[in-house]
Amino acid sequence: MSVLVYVEQVDGKFKKSVFEAVSYAKAIADKQSTNLTAISIGNVGENELKELGKYGASRVLNVSNDQLKNFVNQAYASVIAEAAKKENADVIVLSNSFSGKGLAPRIAVKLEAGLVDGAVELPQLDGGKFQVKKTAFSGKAFAITELTSAIKVIALNPNAFGTKENATDAAIEAFSPEVKSTDLAAIVKEVIRATNKISLPDAELVVSAGRGLKGPENWGMIEELASLLGAATACSKPVSDADWRPHEEHVGQTGIAISPNLYIAIGISGAIQHLAGVSSSKVIVVINKDPEAPFFKVADYGIVGDAFEVVPKLIEALKAHKG
Ligand SMILES: Cc1cc2nc3c(=O)[nH]c(=O)nc-3n(C[C@H](O)[C@H](O)[C@H](O)COP(=O)(O)OP(=O)(O)OC[C@H]3O[C@@H](n4cnc5c(N)ncnc54)[C@H](O)[C@@H]3O)c2cc1C
Repeated sequence: MSVLVYVEQVDGKFKKSVFEAVSYAKAIADKQSTNLTAISIGNVGENELKELGKYGASRVLNVSNDQLKNFVNQAYASVIAEAAKKENADVIVLSNSFSGKGLAPRIAVKLEAGLVDGAVELPQLDGGKFQVKKTAFSGKAFAITELTSAIKVIALNPNAFGTKENATDAAIEAFSPEVKSTDLAAIVKEVIRATNKISLPDAELVVSAGRGLKGPENWGMIEELASLLGAATACSKPVSDADWRPHEEHVGQTGIAISPNLYIAIGISGAIQHLAGVSSSKVIVVINKDPEAPFFKVADYGIVGDAFEVVPKLIEALKAHKG
């Protein structure tokens, strides 16, 4: 029995959500009095891999294979399932990120495991049961799911657990599983970034705007604020429907669901369909001129004011702070 955590890398680096998944997996391993092993796929340097020890991984399986340099859903799922078998892992944890959402069900099928995606708390193990709280109905409710299978796969929502340091000296081991050609039927040969913009699904800070901005010509200040913060930009559905902003910026029930550390909503009413995609953000800041806007009910910080006055002042203050 052991716990295995998949640590997703982007350009050879781990994001905070990975350290969070490792912290969560370590807490499960402690509950089960067993060890935590991490599996990394892609070209990650030794120093970065060692970082995983800080959050409790005692071993790291390092898969460094040119065929797996870029993310391939099927092949990564096979490698993780292979590692789980090798480690005799009965709990497999990964982040419920963009790629985690594709991997988790595939791994579960390969291991004939029960799956909880969107987990928000540690499993409750009382009375020999294994129950996990997860989000349901696009974040509008929670469900307690009981896993009765021998092997369990848990995809943890980013920002649900936080990082917890647990200093361990991680031993790094090379792992070279066989990669089947059938798993490489569709591969990514090259990644060409469309722009230098920060990718929205992976962003830790997001500046988002809605119909309150009146028209696409007013997005300059949103982009400037985002750039000063190092944030990605997002928008509400009517904004992308009207072609004010590209469709890939649309967040919500019918758009991308995100969980950044900071979500700044400017001129967005906070309709339930919008909240469905952003309500699990760690800190929500709302700027709206209507004090009755529903978004204020879920905001950590709210500014009642005209975006065309508030945003330029924020930009000015940030520039002064940076300068
Ligand atoms: C099936 C279905 C799925 C949907 N999916 C999504 C989805 O995925 N994502 C999504 O976003 N929506 C979705 N919608 C639409 C959703 O119901 C709302 O209509 C939409 O979110 C509203 O967008 P908005 O807040 O930008 O615009 P509005 O509702 O028009 O709100 C604009 C806000 O800006 C404020 N404002 C105006 N001027 C200013 C100013 N100068 N300064 C500051 N504030 C100002 C107003 O007070 C208002 O609160 C869906 C709807 C349906 C029926």
